[in-house]
Amino acid sequence: FSGKPARNIISEKINNIKVDEIKAVPVVIKEGSSVYDAIVTLFLEDVGTLFVVQEDGSLVGLVSRKDLLKIAIGNADIHKIPVGVIMTRMPNLITVTPEESAYDAAQKIVDHQVDALPVVKIEQEGDKIKYRVVGKVTKTTITKLFVELGKA
Ligand code: ADP
Repeated sequence: FSGKPARNIISEKINNIKVDEIKAVPVVIKEGSSVYDAIVTLFLEDVGTLFVVQEDGSLVGLVSRKDLLKIAIGNADIHKIPVGVIMTRMPNLITVTPEESAYDAAQKIVDHQVDALPVVKIEQEGDKIKYRVVGKVTKTTITKLFVELGKA
């Protein structure tokens, strides 16, 4: 019995697995959709975070469960308020690219204390930089990977 310590083997694995291999399907909503529609989407799609996109599909923000709860418990008319008004917006979003490792993604989730990261492809359009959402990495994604790697 020889070779590397178990710790190195695990580290090597999670650093070699790319976000592209583990990413899940993202749920997106248009910037102009109402908070009410966002809440309905959250239930229908069974997710905790919605990514907010412009008409052309580029990422502009996201809303979490608590963002929606916060506005819903106030006196606001959630049928009239667009998600674009309450979302966390670019450039404040923590994102990952498909080429980054599973470890990088997990590190960002821990460091920034968030549940979900949009996986983005960065595209240059003229002098504008656009972020196309191609997936998501969430705490669930990382837990599934953990279970997979732990299999005997
Ligand atoms: P919840 O609010 O349901 O606990 P999170 O912990 O993910 O879910 O979100 C906490 C706050 O951080 C929210 O205001 C949310 O908009 C914001 N947030 C969530 N994910 C990200 C992210 N990837 N980048 C930047 N901000 C985020």
